[in-house]
Amino acid sequence: MKRVYNFGAGPAVLPESVLQEAQNELLDYRGSGMSIMEMSHRSKEYDAVHEEAIANIREIMGLSSDYAVLFLTGGASGQFAMVPMNLVGDGQFADYTNSGSWAAKAIKEAGTIARVNIAADCGKELPARVPDESDLKLTKGAAYLHITTNETISGAQWKIFPSSEAPLVADMSSDILSRPVDADRFGLIYAGAQKNLGPAGVTLVVINKDLAERVSDSVPIMFRYKTHIENNSLYNTPPCFSIYMLMLVTRWIKSNGGLTSMAEINERKARKLYDAIDAGEYFTGTAAREYRSNMNVTFRLPSEELESRFIAEASDRGMKGLKGHRSVGGIRASIYNAFPEEGVDALVAFMKEFERENG
Ligand SMILES: *Cc1c(COP(=O)(O)O)cnc(C)c1O
Repeated sequence: MKRVYNFGAGPAVLPESVLQEAQNELLDYRGSGMSIMEMSHRSKEYDAVHEEAIANIREIMGLSSDYAVLFLTGGASGQFAMVPMNLVGDGQFADYTNSGSWAAKAIKEAGTIARVNIAADCGKELPARVPDESDLKLTKGAAYLHITTNETISGAQWKIFPSSEAPLVADMSSDILSRPVDADRFGLIYAGAQKNLGPAGVTLVVINKDLAERVSDSVPIMFRYKTHIENNSLYNTPPCFSIYMLMLVTRWIKSNGGLTSMAEINERKARKLYDAIDAGEYFTGTAAREYRSNMNVTFRLPSEELESRFIAEASDRGMKGLKGHRSVGGIRASIYNAFPEEGVDALVAFMKEFERENG
């Protein structure tokens, strides 16, 4: 067996120890004689997994009892619709910040449901960045303010979250659990699992329970947060296996020192790559310095031809998934929580070597 360094943006690398544990338990989960995938979501074995996953998220994020932890389906993209469906009243505005591709998709979907105010727009700027609080033009009485904490494609990240009178709603898909966050500042946080939490299939929602009460009776039962809060995410069959994997990943985060430790390691890994980018003129970072993501490190080489060669040669050396998103090109090294530091060192060494040979 040979594992590669997987720089893919999502689905992304998982901790090897987690994969091994899942493998060990795959055919016979804890003496039940069946896989966790094959058993009832009302069984005592699955119930323990479900409760531990919720408890781990609560502990790691430091959530008060004002918040509910939900495991839904439909991805972060489903939340683009569910958020306005639940939170925007008749004729009310929702404020959105446009920071790039993912924010733009959230805005487009919200526009089918609610009146949207673009509070700040730097989605197409280069070098890439996210708005500053001082850029925001907020609507009085807005239902909420939506931000995308990390733009996975451009590699720009919010470092300081804005404050607003309206509840803050955040798409944290690509940097959830990568750093300590004061959850009390948010009304709702959502994330597709496949970047930092586990495999695709489960969507984490952390919501202030009062906010969930806003929903109108015209919203289908299945699409109300309230329904899932009342049923502890067991209104219908949840994505049991993905939740099981999320439980193992959150256990791994806890045993590795929680978010303070994750942030420290992530900071160090990212700094190594940004230092390599800044070491000369050969590489150019895609995001403006103050907004550089610690999760998705994006950069360019002097030409597209060199970029293609860089990606191909890196791949030959077992460094996969470095091609930038098809909409922007360039190089993207995604270095989520589970991405090993040795892989970052290997990429830094390769960058130096590549420049020597092709500079
Ligand atoms: C990947 C990603 C999404 C889309 O997630 P899905 O689960 O595929 O819907 C949305 N927002 C951000 C910031 C992402 O990185």
